[in-house]
Amino acid sequence: MLRLNDILQKVQTYHPDADVDLIKKAYVYSARAHQGQVRKSGEPYLIHPLEVSGLLADMRLDEYTISAGILHDTIEDTVATEDEIRQLFGVEVCDIVSGVTKLSKIPYNTTHEKAAENFRRLVVAMTKDIRVILVKLADRLHNMRTLEHMKAEKQERIAQETMDIYAPLANRLGIHWMKAELQDLCLRYLHPKDERELREKLGLTEQARTSYIDEVKSVLRKKMDENEIPCEVQGRVKHLYSIWRKLKDQGINFEELYDIVAFRIVTDSIPHCYEAFGHCHATWRPVPGRFKDFIAMPKPNGYQSLHTTVLGPGGQRAEIQIRTHEMHKVAENGIAAHWTYKEGKNNVQEKGRETFSWLRQLMEHQQELEDPTEFLSSVKVDLFGDAVYVFTPRGEVKELTQGATPVDFAFAIHSEVGQHCSGAKVNGRMVPLRYRLKNGDTVEILTSPNQRPNKDWLGFVKTSKARNRINHYLRLEQHERAVGLGHEILERELKKYGKSLQKILKAEGLKPVMETRHRYHKQEDVLAALGYGKLTASAVLKRILPEEVLEKGPKDVAPKSRLSQLFSAVAKKSSNGITVQGIDDMLVRFGRCCNPVPGDPIVGFVTRGRGVTIHNMQCDKAMALDPARRVDVSWDQKSDVTRTVQIRVITDDRPGILATISQTFTGAGVNILNANCRARKDRRAINDFMVSVKDASQLRSVLRSIEGLSGIHTVERIQA
Ligand code: MN
Repeated sequence: MLRLNDILQKVQTYHPDADVDLIKKAYVYSARAHQGQVRKSGEPYLIHPLEVSGLLADMRLDEYTISAGILHDTIEDTVATEDEIRQLFGVEVCDIVSGVTKLSKIPYNTTHEKAAENFRRLVVAMTKDIRVILVKLADRLHNMRTLEHMKAEKQERIAQETMDIYAPLANRLGIHWMKAELQDLCLRYLHPKDERELREKLGLTEQARTSYIDEVKSVLRKKMDENEIPCEVQGRVKHLYSIWRKLKDQGINFEELYDIVAFRIVTDSIPHCYEAFGHCHATWRPVPGRFKDFIAMPKPNGYQSLHTTVLGPGGQRAEIQIRTHEMHKVAENGIAAHWTYKEGKNNVQEKGRETFSWLRQLMEHQQELEDPTEFLSSVKVDLFGDAVYVFTPRGEVKELTQGATPVDFAFAIHSEVGQHCSGAKVNGRMVPLRYRLKNGDTVEILTSPNQRPNKDWLGFVKTSKARNRINHYLRLEQHERAVGLGHEILERELKKYGKSLQKILKAEGLKPVMETRHRYHKQEDVLAALGYGKLTASAVLKRILPEEVLEKGPKDVAPKSRLSQLFSAVAKKSSNGITVQGIDDMLVRFGRCCNPVPGDPIVGFVTRGRGVTIHNMQCDKAMALDPARRVDVSWDQKSDVTRTVQIRVITDDRPGILATISQTFTGAGVNILNANCRARKDRRAINDFMVSVKDASQLRSVLRSIEGLSGIHTVERIQA
């Protein structure tokens, strides 16, 4: 059994200045808190926290982490409180302990790969100090080592969680020995039969393998000595799980598997790495395509080494890794290597500079920021860009864009849920739909069959999925309304001829209209075009009714509806100077916001039941309109309509000016319909004219002429 003294001694070997009293104090406190508790194995509970801090000491971590390791279960399992821990051991230790406690409260019950990745990210995102994860990993490793005392069902659940979350995290952090041990332990509980068989087979061939390892090692040793490369030569059997994985992935038998053994040369410098590598290839034939230079191109987690596979003695494959001591330490302990102490000095900062850049940023942030919540959010941003991780009520983790709302969440669950999302609860409390979700929030969506996506939602949703679905729905809804309206319009018009739309639709009677335009694929499209005002009822009737019926004209029936009045007005009002996609008898209005005149670049927007509204191409209001309602329009060249515009001229307030302006208008052939002049206090006058112009160029030239007059300050076109 591990004793406190063993841990203290271990710490003092790598960190002579460590505050061992802190560790001792943590031990006394933890022993008292856990007093009387026993583990499933029957041993006193205290053994567990002690073993955990022993592992942390093996990883050469600081006294705060070691103390936190001894205390890690006190808040969760005993009467100890966070306040007490903070008072007795300081903020640093307390934060690690409460971080570990928080992590163990995250419910894990996902099964598929993507969810597991989200969960790993959540674990990191919720951790403001990477030491929390290191304690959690040590905790998990010791629990895995002692898993045999648990019930079978619990064994499997914990092993699965370890396989999905903690082994990959250890790997991500570069702590290889821990990843390997966790995976081997998981294999034992998840695939007990495979594990047993594999271990037996390895046992049977062990002798041959040992002598093979010895042989390769001695050859390598000799070559390195001859060439005066100072190094350590290691040979080992690969860990069980990685062998098992290989068998599964390649679908082969144990007997067919070659590279079970791996060799390693650890030397003092990078030039020696490449030199050693050269001697390996000179001694044995390399296997093509197996050479990888992770020294020149380190892995994202900072891992560096040269990898190669050669055909060793007897033609048996041997994998060789070559690296420096420095690289080896990082490869074995990953992130933990940065908390190590050299010659009694805390060189965290020093080490940080040369290695994993993301970790360095993380630690720099930690030193700069005082507010932990601020730090939490910066960690999140650093590690996972703009993501936020939240839970479904069933405990699944969803990854959303930072700033996402319950509506985004609802659409991420299912578009049906999104469409009928009427409210949301976060951590059990009602929140507004525009609430910004935070890491670890549990979100529950309330739905109602009558709820529909709302245009306002577009103002706050963050994910493109939600945005696309809402837009899609709004377009669909608009389309449906247009179809309904078109149906109504056509039905009324047909009634006048004693025809039923119902029957016509049944007989595919709108086909002749569909043939006029390629984009009418269904009869419904014709009705929608009618509803939008892209088509007139008279144009449709012309196509679908026999000539003799049309000639007879409509029976004079009941009072006209508002709509039919509107559309018969369309037919009459044919000369407005605008051609709408080739049709010239459309009901046209001019946007009051920009009031375009002939010659201005224009664009039309179909307004339900009100025909087409013409805007200036540059009009802000037009830009904001739904592009689906946009139609091409042009000025009718032959038409001689005039347009009314308002002109405001600011002048000196003196007699005669008004007359000069009027003459200028008349001289340019522009009719003044109305004039309104008033003096201002600053001895200036405002002169508003309503004039009718032929086109934009006439307007421009007259405005220029007025500008040129004396006593004029500004001339501008204004909106009514
Ligand atoms: Mn524990």
